[in-house]
Amino acid sequence: MKTAILSVGTELLFGQITNTNTVYLSQQLNLLGFDVMYHYTVGDNPERVAEMIRLAFKDCDLVLTTGGLGPTQDDLTKEVACRVLGDELVMMDDVLEDLTAYFRKNGRQMTDNNKKQAIMPSRAKVFRNDAGTAPGFALQKDGKYIVCMPGPPREMTRMFQKNVVPFLRKMSDDVIYYRMIRCFGIGESQLETALLDLIDNQTDPTLATYAKEGECSLRIASKRGTQEEAKAAVDEMLAKVREIIGDYIYSCDDEDLVQVVCRKLMEKKLTVASAESCTGGMFAAALTDVPGISGSFQRGLVTYSNEAKMDELGVRAETLEKYGAVSEETALEMVEGLKAVSGCDVCISVTGVAGPGGGSPEKPVGLVYIGLICGERKLCKRVQMRNVSRKWNRHYAVLSMLDLINKNI
Ligand code: ATP
Ligand code: MG
Repeated sequence: MKTAILSVGTELLFGQITNTNTVYLSQQLNLLGFDVMYHYTVGDNPERVAEMIRLAFKDCDLVLTTGGLGPTQDDLTKEVACRVLGDELVMMDDVLEDLTAYFRKNGRQMTDNNKKQAIMPSRAKVFRNDAGTAPGFALQKDGKYIVCMPGPPREMTRMFQKNVVPFLRKMSDDVIYYRMIRCFGIGESQLETALLDLIDNQTDPTLATYAKEGECSLRIASKRGTQEEAKAAVDEMLAKVREIIGDYIYSCDDEDLVQVVCRKLMEKKLTVASAESCTGGMFAAALTDVPGISGSFQRGLVTYSNEAKMDELGVRAETLEKYGAVSEETALEMVEGLKAVSGCDVCISVTGVAGPGGGSPEKPVGLVYIGLICGERKLCKRVQMRNVSRKWNRHYAVLSMLDLINKNI
């Protein structure tokens, strides 16, 4: 269904607030299978709001508005929408009761302004506001629908999820089902190339690739008559995708790499320790961001200088001298030392050239060695990054560490 999003608020035109509502709604509506064709923004002016709604209806059958539903003078979306869709405003007793209860519960005095909020277009389907006072609503005329929601993002998102999504689902006969497949170690264009045959021949399910800070995702979506049919179609496509890029997939449920790794460590009751040089504790920080990881994560050492690597991990001076701090030999001695002091099931070390300086022809910026001891296995992985920036190199090094653990536990 062709859809437009209309944001109402003079503050938006002044650039005083960022229009996050439109971003949120566009993402959600696309996932639900609605085709978002236009974004409109208009100030708190009744004629211009009316004009925008009429304009949007020229090409679209559904318009979603946010803002201007509050109790004050400048809040006029409800009145205007009612007028444009040829309805009249009436006091709705159940809405008034709802509002009265809300004010009583929050110990607040109800003003006449607030009572005005129970006046709604007579044919409206009203959506209650769990996070505030202004109710939202949907109104229809000649197959054209308008859905009006409050401006504050917290109120809007709650109302959208709780009331508007079920309403929209009923409007469309088809059901959308999708899965987000997350990959690491493959670039977006490489992913697209690998799946070109599947992507080119797609009608349903559809495949779309997205890139995000060193990782990329693939959305497989299907729109069918029932949830079961859509799910079956998506899963069948996922099996084909797996055959081609299975090695790169770490989640089929839109989980972060760190979440996947932590979940596995916790499920398998494995203890883990880290010794970091170029990432300076970022790996430990990422792990400790996940609730419940204390059962697994035992210690994280930051051994930045050669002295620290020798003192805390027993890396030999000769090794550093002969091969350098950024080398397979050093990474392995770091992880061996870590195993000796921590006794953890999974021990990981990292040493690399984060940049921007410090690179050489043999050891360019972005070169990282990761040492891993996992049960009986001991290995070292060399990763050469594209040297985008110091921040990127460090971030990507952490992802590479997580990926290495993920593939070995
Ligand atoms: P209220 O009852 O709070 O007056 P309302 O529905 O009348 O709600 P507005 O008065 O238009 O909404 O906006 C209230 C606040 O919500 C704004 O000050 C702003 O902080 C936020 N807001 C409104 N529109 C948007 C938007 N498109 N994106 C992000 N925030 C918004
Ligand atoms: Mg307002």
